[in-house]
Amino acid sequence: MTCQRIEELLSAYLEGGLAAAERAEVESHLAACPDCAALAGLMKKTMAAGEGFPEIEPSPALFARLYDIPDAASRKKHVFRPVFEWLTRPSLQPVYATLTGLFIVLSFVLFHPEGRGIRKQIDIQLHRGIGTVEKLYADAGSVKGEIKALSANVVKSFNTLGLLGGDEKKQ
Ligand SMILES: [Zn+2]
Repeated sequence: MTCQRIEELLSAYLEGGLAAAERAEVESHLAACPDCAALAGLMKKTMAAGEGFPEIEPSPALFARLYDIPDAASRKKHVFRPVFEWLTRPSLQPVYATLTGLFIVLSFVLFHPEGRGIRKQIDIQLHRGIGTVEKLYADAGSVKGEIKALSANVVKSFNTLGLLGGDEKKQ
């Protein structure tokens, strides 16, 4: 028997699924071939470890909460659902409501004159953050110029998006 043939038979052998003749052949090869013996040992260990894993299945209650469906329906165990279907679940409505609220706040910050002060704060925080990163890279003797160019690009793209209100355009 070739090593390749042994590799093919090994998992069946370890699971006790081989006929006596094949099993004897595998055993004699393993006794003579250190490589295959090592592989068999590794597979044995892996299988033993796998048996130690508990089989975890989400409880019907969890499914019911996730999908916002009655217990009886959840017993059908729809483990897999397409993502788009999941996104339309009624249980996600609070999430969407929160997101909508967030967008209202965001649009206030971005487009309302009163939001200008907040924009300035975001701007300052952003520059402070970039400055810190820049310093860290410089300390590490790394590519300061590249970081500077990168931060300029970040600011530029924020400007393009109108996120920072254009206060830093003079740079
Ligand atoms: Zn071998």
